[in-house]
Amino acid sequence: MARTALVVGGNRGIGLAVARRLADEGHHVAVTYRQEPPPAGLLGVPCDVTDLDSVRDAFDRAEELLGSVDVLVHSAGITRDRLLYAMSEEDFALPLLTNLTGAYRVTRRAVRGMLRRRWGRIVLLSSQVALSGEAGQANYSASKAALVGFARSLARELGGRGITVNVVAPGLTDTDMAAALPEERREAIVAGVPVGRLVRPEEVAAAVAFLASADAGAVTGAVLPVDGGAGMGH
Ligand code: NDP
Repeated sequence: MARTALVVGGNRGIGLAVARRLADEGHHVAVTYRQEPPPAGLLGVPCDVTDLDSVRDAFDRAEELLGSVDVLVHSAGITRDRLLYAMSEEDFALPLLTNLTGAYRVTRRAVRGMLRRRWGRIVLLSSQVALSGEAGQANYSASKAALVGFARSLARELGGRGITVNVVAPGLTDTDMAAALPEERREAIVAGVPVGRLVRPEEVAAAVAFLASADAGAVTGAVLPVDGGAGMGH
């Protein structure tokens, strides 16, 4: 059955791969972007999750064009890597605002329609480092670990209403975010990955698509690693 999906942060990287995968499966898909719209063929709605009005406008627009959101994917995320001694209040707060508060905002808005229809799929992009930790990423990994508690609490709250809430935890994935790391750092990380390479965005998208499917109705509160074995299932 075709569903309406909104991928927050879907104009590039993992979110774009998710949007393409869901569209290939026949779903009606909208993605959000800030400056750079998605490639041709995908419906884009502007949204900056650090701005509550922008979240409201994005949902209004997506729902006006496609109907109420059945599948929500929160892929918007930023890093602000610093060792603790150099991490300012702002460096700490910004990833939390985008990665965690952003997830709260879009989920809260999406759940409204899902509750009405008693069906919904929510998938939040966390990270392997949420569970393993990473030097220089105390802010980022805290925001990503918090998503697990957020998702599991909502899984309990919403499970009886046909709404599942799950987390996907990718390892280092071949996107702009990984490209921003110094090459030696990337190589050092890959050296510790059993499959010996970066994760492909399409591999993360396949996991998200499963969790978004009708078949995954009994999977909720899960953390699904797609990390080449780096976390050994955490
Ligand atoms: P990218 O840096 O390639 O893309 C980030 C996406 O987030 C873009 O669509 C970007 O939109 C969007 N975004 C950033 N800030 C905001 C904001 N304030 N409001 C709305 N959208 C925003 O990241 P990836 O695709 O690699 O990562 C996707 C998710 O997966 C992130 O949550 C990331 O933390 C997580 N992840 C990534 C890993 C990796 O190695 N790549 C590993 C583990 C987890 P815009 O184009 O407008 O900037």
